[in-house]
Amino acid sequence: AHQAALAARSKDNLRSPICCILGHVDTGKTKLLDKIRQTNVQEGEAGGITQQIGATYFPVEAIRQKTAVVNRDGSFEFKVPGLLIIDTPGHESFSNLRSRGSSLCNIAILVVDIMHGLEQQTLESLRLLRDRKTPFIVALNKIDRLYGWKKIDNNGFQESLALQNKAVQNEFRNRLDKVKLAFAEQGFNSELFYENKSMARYVSLVPTSAHTGEGIPDMLKLLVQLTQERMVGSLMYLSEVQATVLEVKAIEGFGMTIDVILSNGILREGDRIILCGVDGVIKTNIRALLTPAPLRELRLKSQYVHNKEVKAALGVKISAPGLEGAIAGSRLLVVGPDDDESDLEDEVESDLASLFSRVEKTGRGVSVQASTLGSLEALLDFLKESKIPVANVGIGPVYKRDVMQCGIMLEKAPDFAVMLCFDVKIDKEAQAYADEQGIKIFTADIIYHLFDAFTKHIQEQNEKKKEESKMLAVFPCVLNPVAVFNKTNPIVVGVDVVEGSLRINTPIAAVKTNPTTGAKEIINLGRVASIEREHKQIQMCKKGQPSVAIKIEAAGGHQPAYGRQLEEKDTLYSLISRPSIDCLKQFYRNDVTNDEWALIIKLKPVFDIP
Ligand code: GDP
Repeated sequence: AHQAALAARSKDNLRSPICCILGHVDTGKTKLLDKIRQTNVQEGEAGGITQQIGATYFPVEAIRQKTAVVNRDGSFEFKVPGLLIIDTPGHESFSNLRSRGSSLCNIAILVVDIMHGLEQQTLESLRLLRDRKTPFIVALNKIDRLYGWKKIDNNGFQESLALQNKAVQNEFRNRLDKVKLAFAEQGFNSELFYENKSMARYVSLVPTSAHTGEGIPDMLKLLVQLTQERMVGSLMYLSEVQATVLEVKAIEGFGMTIDVILSNGILREGDRIILCGVDGVIKTNIRALLTPAPLRELRLKSQYVHNKEVKAALGVKISAPGLEGAIAGSRLLVVGPDDDESDLEDEVESDLASLFSRVEKTGRGVSVQASTLGSLEALLDFLKESKIPVANVGIGPVYKRDVMQCGIMLEKAPDFAVMLCFDVKIDKEAQAYADEQGIKIFTADIIYHLFDAFTKHIQEQNEKKKEESKMLAVFPCVLNPVAVFNKTNPIVVGVDVVEGSLRINTPIAAVKTNPTTGAKEIINLGRVASIEREHKQIQMCKKGQPSVAIKIEAAGGHQPAYGRQLEEKDTLYSLISRPSIDCLKQFYRNDVTNDEWALIIKLKPVFDIP
């Protein structure tokens, strides 16, 4: 086997690393891709760049040509056969290029607009890259927008910078320093690429312009360099099949198809494949392996070429029966001659199960719905970090049954009667049902935004509860009456506050002993409707402040009267209870002083609160 393995390491068995482009919207990801794909007419066709399904393949020859301006002496050695760059930039493809929690994307370009610095999705990309331990370089794009920039198309960056006047060079340095600082705040050390002494310790920043092409040769060279430094040699040889579903699409003439990135191994027509579907594991046989027809052959009937077999790394469309409900981000396994099909089935199933099992044991938490396995995983990781508990997990559009599932929380934990939906559609009937039941559905295509929406929702809920609890909360006080102005309906008395502080709305009670039975009696006077000192209304009177006149209105029903149930010498108390104490603890913890907590403890036995 060892011999075979060695023999397998021949030159035509090398495989290409896979590269993703990530970054904030409008930083120029698409434009950069277009620019590197573009063949340079003057220098002749850059050999062999091929458009694939969901990806573009750059053979080493093309990269060699495109990096020639920054490798004039040819001293940089290329060891990779080429690069496979994923065409759809952004989180979606990156997070779907996954296998058992690790990334099939070997290397990434994080694009930052040099005029804007680090933006929200940049931070999200950084989090994904860190979580998946993917090596990356940073393209500081749009350098042509530095004021006064003089361009030389497709030039190496260092040479271009040297030609700029002092002001441009200064502005560049200032912006570079800002970006470095911002990366440092995120826990990444970074250096301008030609000042970087260790690619393992510092992220390389490479200034680029997708408009002029400047810096792009440096960027490509750096990509290859980083791959060669960071990827273990064995990773570069073909071995067993490793593949992920990037997209699920219906195509005329083929029915449902899956776009797959084959990152290792060989796929053949007729292969038995296993992957995740929304209604369980899908087992089928490859009917056709399709790649796009080269441009000059577009006059042919089909826009696709049928392949007997394809080799990693590449993007390929698979047509096969029974692909309805296939889930993007799912692993694709091939049943080999020595494999037990049911073992592989279990393995694929466990991918789904491991995500679906990441729910709270208590059953209390929000519901989460995402479009693909990759985005679901990224969302769950994020919610875990943010300490938001998850009770339900789903993939695909939100239907009424999902909302009903979430609705269980209305009884259990109303705060969590919330659906956080990432990049999915909400069925009309589902939305209507949610509105009717008071279940909140938040949708976003940036994970952070879901977090923000949820945090805001919780704050609003708390404000609402605090508002509702106003009548329940009782701040403690003890009052000594000094004069009775009106005996009842309403009671108006002059009082000194001897403990705590008296506030409007506080319920007031006297505690007496029944002269005949000897039992304790709590006499509820009602709530404080107003507090007055020297004919001025005030909101609060604290212990030790001058006497105030207070009006107490019946809580409803009959009000006790001075001269009958009440005597002027009776001490008055704020009427506290177990619920009133709990309410203070929940919503007013910061408003209650230590003295007031002590007073509450003192008053508990007065009202027989355990
Ligand atoms: P994406 O959302 O990251 O894919 O960004 P796009 O590639 O769509 O670019 C967004 C906008 O920025 C477009 O109007 C581009 O023309 C512009 N743009 C992209 N790269 C550059 C650049 O290097 N220089 C300048 N001046 N504009 C750029």
